[in-house]
Parts: sequence; C-alpha cells; structure tokens
Amino acid sequence: MRVLVIEAGPDGRHDAGIVIPGRKGSTLGGQYDWNLTTVPQPGANDRVFAQNRGKVLGGSSALNLMTWDRTSIAELDAWEQTLGNTGWNWSSLYAAMLKAETFQPSSLYGEEGVGKTGPIGTLINRIIPRHQRTWTPTLLNLGLAENRESLNGHPIGVSTQPSNVHPNYTRSYAPDYLRLAKANLVLKLETRVAKINFAGTTATGVTLEDGVIITACREVILSAGSLQSPALLELSGIGDATLLSSLSIPVVKELPAVGQNLQDHIRIQASFQLQPEYHSFDALKNTSRAAIELSQYHAGNTSFYDYTASGYAYVPWTTVSPATAARLESLVQNDTSLTSPIDQLKRSYLSPPLSHTVPQVEVIFSDGYTGLQGYPPPTSPLHGMHTFTLIGVVQHPLSRGSVHITSRNTSQPPAIDPHYLSHPYDLSATTALARFLRTVAQTPPLRATWHTEYEPGVAVHTDAHWEAYARANTLSIYHPVGTCAMLPVADGGVVDTQLRVHGTRGLRVVDASVIPLLPSAHLQTLVYGIAERAAEMVVEAHQ
Ligand SMILES: Cc1cc2nc3c(=O)[nH]c(=O)nc-3n(C[C@H](O)[C@H](O)[C@H](O)COP(=O)(O)OP(=O)(O)OC[C@H]3O[C@@H](n4cnc5c(N)ncnc54)[C@H](O)[C@@H]3O)c2cc1C
Repeated sequence: MRVLVIEAGPDGRHDAGIVIPGRKGSTLGGQYDWNLTTVPQPGANDRVFAQNRGKVLGGSSALNLMTWDRTSIAELDAWEQTLGNTGWNWSSLYAAMLKAETFQPSSLYGEEGVGKTGPIGTLINRIIPRHQRTWTPTLLNLGLAENRESLNGHPIGVSTQPSNVHPNYTRSYAPDYLRLAKANLVLKLETRVAKINFAGTTATGVTLEDGVIITACREVILSAGSLQSPALLELSGIGDATLLSSLSIPVVKELPAVGQNLQDHIRIQASFQLQPEYHSFDALKNTSRAAIELSQYHAGNTSFYDYTASGYAYVPWTTVSPATAARLESLVQNDTSLTSPIDQLKRSYLSPPLSHTVPQVEVIFSDGYTGLQGYPPPTSPLHGMHTFTLIGVVQHPLSRGSVHITSRNTSQPPAIDPHYLSHPYDLSATTALARFLRTVAQTPPLRATWHTEYEPGVAVHTDAHWEAYARANTLSIYHPVGTCAMLPVADGGVVDTQLRVHGTRGLRVVDASVIPLLPSAHLQTLVYGIAERAAEMVVEAHQ
C-alpha cells in the first residue's frame, strides 16, 4: 500500500518557534497559522474570536500548548452505549491512545494511564516554578483529592500532568510518526487540496488548487481538521443541498449535518502579581535574560525555555460549591429544548451519578501572564512584573454552532459560528468559574505567593461585574470538534463507525471533526487514538 500525504503548509521541524517548548504560543498568528476567525459572537459582546489552526506539517499539533491528558471512562463508553458507535468505547480508544506514546517515568506520576512504546514522547516538565509547589496543597484545601494517575480514565483531582515533549526538551508532535514510515510514504507539502473528486458517490481522488488531479488507488482520507474538513466536503458536493445549490455546487450526496454540531471548550483566566521572592516565566520578557536562558537551553541545561504547564485540576461543580452545582444543574435540567443525544449526554454529566466521575471544569496553573488585557509594555512601571495565571475551562458547554463555506472560491475562509456563550448554562458556568479562579488564588498556601490580582482586579466583585467580565474575556481553548460527527445519519452523523462518509464509498474523515461531543480533556490524545484506530481499519480494509 502506498500513502500520499498532501499538506497545505511547509515543514516546520527546524523552526525554533515550533521546536522549543518555552516558545509555545509564539507561532500563533504567524506563517504557520491559517489565522481563521469566527463571525461576531452576540453572546460575547459581538467579539470576533481567533480560531488558530496549524498550516504546517503536523497541523495544529505543531502549534499546540503541549498539554497531554485524557478524558473519563464514562464519556468514551457513551460513544458506543448512548450514541450507537459500535466498537468505540473506553477500552478500544484507551488502547489506541496508549499506542501513540512513550512516557518518561516520573516520581510525580504513578503507573497507570501512560504508554511505553509510541512515537510521541511525553514527560513531566523538569521546570516546576517554586510558587507552583503550592498548587496541590491549595487544591487539597479546597476539597479535591490528589490524583497521581489522572490519565487512566479517572481524571478528577489535582495532578501533575505530562506534556508532549521529548527527553531532549523538544516538542514531540505528529511528524514524529514519520520515523515509522517506510519508502511507501510520499509527502507533498505546500500543496492545497481544492476538492475531492467523485465518480457517482465513490471518491476517486482530489483536485489541487492549481487544477492538478491526483487519483487515489484505494481511498481518500480527509484530515483537514474540524474547521476545514467540513468545508472541503461542501466544496466537493457533500452537505446541505440548499447551501450547495445556492453556491452552484453540484450535489454528490445530501448530508445536512456536515459543518453542524460545532462545539468548543471555552476558557476564562485570572493573573496574579507574585511577591518579589518568586520569579516566573515572565522573566523572558527581559531580552538579556531571554538570551541567557536560550543559551542555557541550547547547551542542554535546564532553562525557562523548557517550560510547559504541569499543574492541573479536573473538578466537579460540587467542588466549586454545592450551591453552584445545584444552580447549574437545574438550569440544564429545566431546559426542555435539550433533546438531541449530544445534549442529553451533556445534561447527564451534571447530575449524579455521572457528576461524580465526569469533570465539569478544568483549572490550569500556567506560569507567566496569558490574559487578555496584555502584559504591561516596556514604558509601563509594571513592565518586569512576575505573574502566574489560572486558566479555567468549561468542559461541556451547551452552545453548538456551525462552520460552512460561503463561496466556491477555495481560498475564501469558511464562516465559523460557534455560538459562544449563547446557552445560559455557558454564561453562568464561565461566570462561576471566573469567580472560582479568585477563590483558588485566595486559598493558602497559594495565597502567600502573590500580592495583587492583576486581572480581572478587585474592581470586579458584584454578580453583574463577573458576568460582564465573562462576556468580555471568554476565549476559545482551541478545541473545535463535532463538525463531521461519528453518529448515525438520523442523529446528525457525517461518518459511520469505520469513519466512512455516510452514503459514499472510498472516503473517510480522520481528525477531530469526527468527535461527536467534547471530552473533558484537551484533544490531542484522543485525536491520536482515533488516528491509530483508523490506521488499523484502513490496513484491514485493503489487506
Ligand atoms: C493553539 C492551539 C493550542 C492547542 N493546545 C492543545 C494542548 O495543549 N493539548 C491538546 O491536547 N490539544 C491542544 N490543541 C488541540 C490539538 O492540537 C488539535 O485538536 C489537534 O491537533 C487537531 O488535529 P486535527 O488532525 O483534527 O487537525 P489539525 O491538526 O489542525 O490538522 C489539519 C491539517 O490539515 C491541513 N489542511 C487543511 N486544509 C487543507 C487543504 N485544503 N489542503 C491541504 N491541507 C490542508 C492543515 O494545514 C493541517 O496541517 C491545541 C490546538 C491549537 C490550535
């Protein structure tokens, strides 16, 4: 079997912005980013949100922030038991996810939940800032238990978690799989696919942007991600017939769910100025200090440029407060419009028994400033301040949106409308989470490490202030899913359990777009697991 990989972006494997862990985030908005944006979001003061996506070998795995974690058993078992995806459950996906990874053992992590033989290197970062040593005791004081095996399907608790980083402190990401490839793999970089070609409803290959036609000997696998896979299907004649006809695109297969069911994790943040005896990752804002740290990095010594986050907490609403849990639960239970299988599942996560095992909130200890207001410029007296940031993430927002093409022109970005904060639960959850971040910071022993809340600041203190803060400051945490969902057609599915596009032949989708509903974890481990399973299916189909 021969494999051709067509990638729109270049090879970034030698670019320091991608390779050096401490430069995470520096590539956003640059040459390796598709730089997509949403349409204005009415729930969030009509803000237009960035939708960063990798346009480089390895896609978004080259840009991601290297959090390596895993969702809960119940959520993946629901793919089979509730959503009807036979064969897709915790057991099959867990085995596939572990195949992707080789974890470097650490005294901060137990035994279960990590892989030992895969191409992606993972480790617990050797840079743990002194003030982060207060992280676990602080969350214990808030009633959470310590979890030293948080990747084993039981994520609730406070944990020190791995990052996808090699033991030599370089990013480990999708191109690491190329080491396993043989001469049967051909890479075609800086080449954009314009559409998938069909004979009837059988995929025959692709047409590139320059008009070149490539014919597939066996099948076409679409892996353009949650925002561009549905767009490519629509450009190729698969989608809602009314939309396609309005753009004069001949309909190959009517599948109205293409581009629907868009879900994304939403985050809110708070930053705190450290006491003078603590030094944070913000030190790199000083250019001479940055140069020293970089030379340490290149010499193979411990350096701020090693840094990735390692302090995490996956939290049920009851830990935030029993009253908050009850209020949010009733908000969702009383909403009779939540009838789809996806919404019903999310609703079930808010009530016992699942509310005890499925996390609703994540809090990340992220050293240095990452807020919306911006780090003080060199002209400001605050420039040089050292901060840490708490990032809160709502795991199962109820807002669902869409992504659709608006033109036959392949270079016209799709209209992305996640409907952020459009469901009352999402706004209430984000508001409660923002307040909880302050509670966490004010809990000892973390409280002793900082003197001033830089963002949002003490002026934000009434219910109305917090809600306004949530509307003005909620961001995406880059996890769009669901736009080519693996579901039966009647439930809004685009692909079947073999990841084949319903009603077609010779065409699979293998990327985050097939994930039917948001997991309580960052996405990459699940995407590697889906890809591992897809590889087995492809081999089996063509043996
Ligand atoms: C900034 C950022 C931070 C993140 N942080 C984390 C994290 O810390 N931990 C975590 O677990 N997850 C994280 N994620 C999410 C995770 O990286 C993604 O969910 C995952 O990479 C998605 O994989 P994918 O295959 O669906 O899509 P992508 O990785 O986006 O790959 C799609 C590929 O298709 C290519 N492509 C698109 N259209 C075409 C076309 N027409 N022709 C040819 N090629 C095309 C793109 O260039 C890209 O290479 C982050 C994502 C981002 C963007």
